[in-house]
Order: sequence, then C-alpha cells, then structure tokens
Amino acid sequence: MSPFGTIGRLEHVSDVICHECGALTPGTTRPVHAYMDASPGCWQMYCELQEWQHSLRGDHGITTAQHVVDAYAAQHATNPDRRDRQSVTVHLMSLCASLEFGVSGRQRRAMIGDWTHREYPLLRPITDHYPVTVRDVKEAPVERRHEVVEEMATSTWSAWSIHHREIRTLLAGFLA
Ligand SMILES: [Zn+2]
Repeated sequence: MSPFGTIGRLEHVSDVICHECGALTPGTTRPVHAYMDASPGCWQMYCELQEWQHSLRGDHGITTAQHVVDAYAAQHATNPDRRDRQSVTVHLMSLCASLEFGVSGRQRRAMIGDWTHREYPLLRPITDHYPVTVRDVKEAPVERRHEVVEEMATSTWSAWSIHHREIRTLLAGFLA
C-alpha cells in the first residue's frame, strides 16, 4: 500500500513541520517558492493569505500586509541563493525600519525597491522554530489577524537579535 494512503488520495500526505519556521503545515505536493526553502504546505498557507493581504487598505492595513511579507521572508532564510540572501536582508531591514523607526508600510514598499539588486551577506538565523508563524495568522479570526501579524513581526525581529547591529548599519546607510 502506498505510504500516502489509497491511490485516489496520492496528494494528501501527513502534516509536516516546516523546517524553516517550525509551523505544522499541510502535507502537499504542490509547487514551492522559487528560492525560499519553505515546506510546500507552508508556502500554500502563505499564498492562501494573499487575498486577505491585498484587501488591506490605509496606512495601518499596508503596514500589516508588509509585516506579513517581511516576517515570512525572514523566517525562511537558510538558502544561500543570492536572491534569498537579498530577500532576507531587505525584509529584515524593513522590519527594523518599521519596529524601531516607525517607517510606514507604504514608505517601506517604496524603499525596498532601492535596497534590492545588491549583493548581501548570508545571514544565518539562530532558530528554526518561531513563536508566531503563518499558520497562526491564517488560523486567527480576521478581526484578530492584525494583532497576530504584529506579534509575528516583533517576535521574528527579536529572533534575529544576533544580526540587529548589521541590519541597523545597512539601514542607516539608506536612511542617511
Ligand atoms: Zn515555514
């Protein structure tokens, strides 16, 4: 018998832990992101939040939407691919700009364009198990999601404390 169950249910495999963020994610054989090493089910949950993210409006809404993008990218950071190194660094810079300097999501979206297409170092996270993940955001009732995303952003930034100085220095070069 197939380890995945009956022949008719080949696509349904057991839930798996995403080895990057630590979330329990649906087992699936769907495609994954081009360079983030998220588990397929983790990436699927992120994609399922897109419609909600795109519905967010106003400064507060756009800040929340940007926090989801930033925190998710920072939580999936072990791939040495140049695009992933850049993604992790610029999204950590965006979290720093927001949480330490109060830069709005709208401003950060514009700034990220200036930060990309550069060479960035490979930053290694110190954890593969974040306290708040995309799963928590997805499972939260819509009226609580802003709050959960805030927790995801702050706890992800805290988890990267060994690289805070490096990120602040990079950011200062752009904010000067
Ligand atoms: Zn993940």
